[in-house]
Amino acid sequence: MLNLILFGPPGSGKGTQAAKLVDKYKLLHISTGDLFRYEIGHKTELGMKAQQYISKGELVPDEITIGMLKNKVEANLDANGFIFDGFPRTIAQAKALEDYLHSRSLEVDALLALHVHDEEIVKRILKRGETSGRPDDLDESIIRNRIEVYKSETSPIYDYFDKKGKAYKVDGIGTIDEIFDRLCKQIDSIHI
Ligand code: AMP
Repeated sequence: MLNLILFGPPGSGKGTQAAKLVDKYKLLHISTGDLFRYEIGHKTELGMKAQQYISKGELVPDEITIGMLKNKVEANLDANGFIFDGFPRTIAQAKALEDYLHSRSLEVDALLALHVHDEEIVKRILKRGETSGRPDDLDESIIRNRIEVYKSETSPIYDYFDKKGKAYKVDGIGTIDEIFDRLCKQIDSIHI
């Protein structure tokens, strides 16, 4: 099994790259953002709760997010491995993921962090908002809040995995294929 965390701020290209990595490495892509949007689309109780936070660009509380993530992994333990996209977003989520994987004799193999500067992110998300149908992609102040939340709550996760020798930085500026090549080189250098 190969378990990767695709890390980086909103709009750094995680979803786009995850789709390509899934094809190449035959992994299961788990995006907590996509899972929440599915729940919202189906008007479930979980979806309605999550929407209150997502619409403001805030994080959905850990207990909701971790429970949803575990259910998804648990239902797919026959996969070759996972690409986690948009999860973990807090240190508590990172620890919960590790504990859960350890309980199944698995582990996080690597965290790949896409680096993109703030103004490029805002530009990319506003552009994506023209077609994504996501209300949180349309309003610049919500986008900037998502970036601030990333810096304060999510970015420390990089150091957490770096201390374990598992974090890798990847330049997230360039064409989709250039960035994909950089990611693959990193993965191939750690994939045993
Ligand atoms: P994303 O599609 O990853 O940009 O996520 C969209 C929104 O869903 C985020 O701005 C958060 O409000 C929420 N969300 C997604 N993943 C998580 C997570 N791991 N923890 C908390 N909130 C999340």
